[in-house]
Amino acid sequence: MLFKLERQKSKRQRFSRKKIGDFQFFSLYSIVFFFTLLITLSYINAPRIPILGFHGIVDLNNSNLGIAQNPIAQRMAYPMQNLEEFLEDLAANNYWFLSTQEMYDYFINCSQDIPEKYVGKKPIMLSFDDSYKTVYTNLIPILERLEKEFNQKIKVVLFVNPGTLSKVNHPSTTYLSCEDLRTGFKKGFYDIQSHGQSHKNLVTLTVQDLNQELAQAQTHLRECMAGLAPEQEIAAHIAYPYGSMNHQVETYASKYYQSGYLYNSTILRFRWLNDKYRISRLTVNRNKTTARLIQMASRSFSIIQR
Ligand SMILES: [Zn+2]
Repeated sequence: MLFKLERQKSKRQRFSRKKIGDFQFFSLYSIVFFFTLLITLSYINAPRIPILGFHGIVDLNNSNLGIAQNPIAQRMAYPMQNLEEFLEDLAANNYWFLSTQEMYDYFINCSQDIPEKYVGKKPIMLSFDDSYKTVYTNLIPILERLEKEFNQKIKVVLFVNPGTLSKVNHPSTTYLSCEDLRTGFKKGFYDIQSHGQSHKNLVTLTVQDLNQELAQAQTHLRECMAGLAPEQEIAAHIAYPYGSMNHQVETYASKYYQSGYLYNSTILRFRWLNDKYRISRLTVNRNKTTARLIQMASRSFSIIQR
């Protein structure tokens, strides 16, 4: 009889221990689930800004101009006719074409309030890497036409390698000249920023070469643009060549530049912590149709209120 009672008691204890165990497991599971859901929702709903990364612009009716000798450039170049259609759609649909400094002041560093005139607009950034001549010859006429038609200036960001620019003693039909940069800037279309001095992969360099590549690009671009703008507006931000960077590159880039851009096929999302030296960009090549670009742009969030 005593033995039976003992057995029942221990059975009850086992049962209640199991209940407590189940309860603890359920609580832990609920907490983990809740936080996972919260993180997922905040990720999905985080404000987004598409930053599109183009290279050269090829005219389908005159495709040999400027970039013919370079197969990589050919592959990366985007058709001018598609780009024109895309820009026309943006001009007609209330976009705000961000400069690198606007991106930094209003969204990355958040040091300034967004001016009233931008409320309700959709922010986007259009960037062009590698200093191709066609960003002048094929793009400027489109921007001028759209400005007349829509009474809106579309500003583009150029990430330039001053080391490859066309020079008087070393002329080139492939690359922009300093004079092209100055003209596009005076017309109000270009934001001139750095892509390193000579497009070297920054993670492979010694500290000395890394410093030189970062510093020279800034100095030379500022010399090229002298007299047109306050020095700090030019080459204040960098896009790493090949999108390649690491902790060391970030450390040295921060000595010269306020922010750094990747090339990682990812849309820029604003979460709790944003690294201003790892700003995501969406890659664009000729396989992406105009419709696809419009779809990429439409993922921008609208600034409804301050
Ligand atoms: Zn590049």
